[in-house]
Amino acid sequence: MMIVMKESATADQVEAVVRQVEHVGARAHISRGELHTVIGAIGDRDHVANLELDGFPGVDHVVPITRPYKLASLQFKREERTVLDIGGRKIGGPYFMTIAGPCTIESRGQMLDAAAAVKDAGAQLLRGGAYKPRTSPYSFQGLGEGGLRLLAEAREETGMPVVTEVMDARDLDQILEVADVIQVGARNMQNFTLLTELGRAGRPIVLKRGLSATLDDLLMAAEYVLKEGNESVILCERGIRTFETAYRFTLDLMAVPVLKQHTHLPVIVDPSHAAGRRDLVLPMSLAAAAAGADGIIVEVHPEPERAICDGPQQLRAEEFADYLRQVEAVAQLAGKELATSY
Ligand code: PEP
Ligand code: MN
Repeated sequence: MMIVMKESATADQVEAVVRQVEHVGARAHISRGELHTVIGAIGDRDHVANLELDGFPGVDHVVPITRPYKLASLQFKREERTVLDIGGRKIGGPYFMTIAGPCTIESRGQMLDAAAAVKDAGAQLLRGGAYKPRTSPYSFQGLGEGGLRLLAEAREETGMPVVTEVMDARDLDQILEVADVIQVGARNMQNFTLLTELGRAGRPIVLKRGLSATLDDLLMAAEYVLKEGNESVILCERGIRTFETAYRFTLDLMAVPVLKQHTHLPVIVDPSHAAGRRDLVLPMSLAAAAAGADGIIVEVHPEPERAICDGPQQLRAEEFADYLRQVEAVAQLAGKELATSY
């Protein structure tokens, strides 16, 4: 439930409403707009139902939030979209962002070559995994701390902010030393204790949709991060499990406009993991941009044939500039602003 205070409401009147919200066992989330202060009463349905605000001075009106997620809902932000600024690169609202780089950090040469290629082509953020969620425990699990050091070097060399995945809260402190954005992989989307830790850490998050998660599941997972006071969450559609076996996952592009009907958070698409095949990455990226995505996260490798992980889906570094031009052209047609315009 959202309590919209009158323009003339005093600090004492706001405080009295906050006390009433807390009195019924809910949490008060205050946002001060230019004209109105809005108090979100966040809690389970029973608590909020007991909130009797009749006669409270300074209250203009009360808006029920009908969705199970509250802080993530577009209603809660009164239709205003979240724009994140990551080292001067923007995403959300009108802004389109490209995140690119290898699946996994494999070596110094591979990471630095990939970083140079995506920077020269004009991507905004650099990706690279040091801790990898692999289906088989016998597969390469990532370089761990050594990988993070190489990522830090690539960040230093290119000046690009970096995105890397956390799998275990015990690695969070060292990841926080390097990462501008922390990725939660599809397999950890509902690791609620990890999400809570990330909410407290405060760093921007890319939250990938779980393999069999509904859009409501994804938004409720985001709510765990938001609830701890971290409002910098980017949602990512990366393909879901269906009966189709012709490609790795089914990229659910309807998720883009539908999520944006329900949430103020930026929504990006990962065509690489959905497709599992390089030839599908460009068409699905164009389709994602046309559907109104706020960005793309895509895998790029200097020598995909020699990649340790996800080789068949990684774009060739030398083809990336051409790919990006096409994707950005469609994003512009869809009304997005590119980093080159600010
Ligand atoms: C990744 O981005 O490297 C990755 C493993 O993605 P996902 O969690 O979507 O499978
Ligand atoms: Mn990968």
